[in-house]
Amino acid sequence: MVRKILKYGEPVLEQVADPVKDFNSPDLKQLIEDMFETMYAAKGVGLAAPQVGIRQRLTVIDLSLGEDEAKKLVLINPEITAREGKQVGEEGCLSIPGFREPVSRSNKVTLKAYNEKGEAVELTGEELLARAFEHEIDHLNGKLFINHLSTLKRDIIRRKIKKMQKAGEWD
Ligand SMILES: [Zn+2]
Repeated sequence: MVRKILKYGEPVLEQVADPVKDFNSPDLKQLIEDMFETMYAAKGVGLAAPQVGIRQRLTVIDLSLGEDEAKKLVLINPEITAREGKQVGEEGCLSIPGFREPVSRSNKVTLKAYNEKGEAVELTGEELLARAFEHEIDHLNGKLFINHLSTLKRDIIRRKIKKMQKAGEWD
């Protein structure tokens, strides 16, 4: 089932999510399935549970946009263990549609997490995958890509969004 992606302004997007405790719950399996479906429907490469209103430390990533089963990643309770280098690239977010800005990220990121079977995994991503890891894990900590921008740029975006909210074009 495709779920509604919450947009910037919803408090849950700026709250720290709680660790997943029960890896065998049918709700968790359903949530993971729904998150992939929702992400593909929105043509995104990553989606974090708080974006669909679930304050849990879970995110799905697929840089192939559903083309390659092997690229599907489920990260439960992920923790970054190492970062290396820097990259700057344009970034957007399904919760802040219509806005893209250059964001500085680590070029190589190693993390540990649990997969959908509850197995511990360690993953290393470079370039776009490293960017996705940091972007999605930020979501679990209530942080959005606009938090990485200058105050000036962030305020411009916030003002534009406020206008859209008032006009009923942001929900
Ligand atoms: Zn995002």
